[in-house]
Amino acid sequence: MKAILAKEFGGPEVMKLEEVEDLIPGRHQVLVRVEAAGVNPVDVYILSGQYARKPALPYTPGMDGAGVVVALGMGVKGIKKDSRVYVESAVTGTYARFCLVDQAHVHPLPDAATFAQGAALGVPYATAHRALFGKAKALAGETVLVHGASGGVGTAAVQMAKAAKMKVIGTAGTEQGFQLVKEQGATHVLNHKDPAYLEELMRLTEGRGVDVILEMAAHVNLGKDLTLLAPRGRVVVIGSRGPVEINPRDAMGREAAILGMTLFNVGPKERAAIHKDLIQGLKNKGLKPVIGKELPLDQAAEAFRLVLQPGAFGKIVLVP
Ligand code: NAP
Repeated sequence: MKAILAKEFGGPEVMKLEEVEDLIPGRHQVLVRVEAAGVNPVDVYILSGQYARKPALPYTPGMDGAGVVVALGMGVKGIKKDSRVYVESAVTGTYARFCLVDQAHVHPLPDAATFAQGAALGVPYATAHRALFGKAKALAGETVLVHGASGGVGTAAVQMAKAAKMKVIGTAGTEQGFQLVKEQGATHVLNHKDPAYLEELMRLTEGRGVDVILEMAAHVNLGKDLTLLAPRGRVVVIGSRGPVEINPRDAMGREAAILGMTLFNVGPKERAAIHKDLIQGLKNKGLKPVIGKELPLDQAAEAFRLVLQPGAFGKIVLVP
């Protein structure tokens, strides 16, 4: 079968589309024919070889995908051959025609969602869910700032917060991003490239600030975030690409909390609960992943370049 293979760590150019051996599902594993694979920033970090997780070489990148079940390993229960599924955390990597997935990471894909939308669920939607509900414990009626709302996690977070009856303020850095964030249900959209946008945020909240911030770029914003929080506000650090200076007093006076999160820490029970909720949200149509770009599998390197560039617009997926 065809698969993207990285024989060394490095930049996007080390990935090549190659012919590799067919896969056979082991115990509790499911063989999925991949119809779309989600491209996440973490895939790029892992390929660089500088990330905490380092797969054995050679390897096929990709954690997220959606497709059809073609074979079941021994002991698999509750998953049917030929069913539509989405997967997160594949054993063999989703940037391929087929992938092997442990049954706990295979979820039914409702008819309301396309395969491309299914490939946007694993990392981005589960991250937004855990940040908003699991970490910040955000409640209906609270005001949430999605700081970086135009990308995979941000669009998911806006949809979820809106569906849970929160007031959502989102940020983006381009005209098309502003429009997109507004369409997902944000009450207000601000430009995180405009030096005056934080003053505008305080004006919009009548000087009170926001209850929750979901932060995609903590290395730029964390210090400022602490000054934007209402009393007992919570900021969840989802993304950060370097160090940042903060003034702890800004947190002290507000009794604010800085909550780090990583999806890798989610245990089986929490993961199952998150995906049950996501599937319900897809069926209710409150959740509708935005696909900004679909590229053929052999353009994985281009997808890696695009996903780290400014001007995010929903999700980038690869189509085998
Ligand atoms: P993405 O699709 O590339 O989106 C990136 C978002 O960050 C865009 O909305 C972008 O807006 C915004 N952004 C850029 N500069 C910003 C700034 N100065 N202030 C605020 N926002 C800014 O990436 P993603 O998949 O949504 O992931 C977002 C971040 O979370 C990444 O760093 C990723 O590695 C991380 N992440 C962490 C976890 C975890 O478990 N902790 C899980 C998933 C993702 P414009 O492009 O419109 O400027």
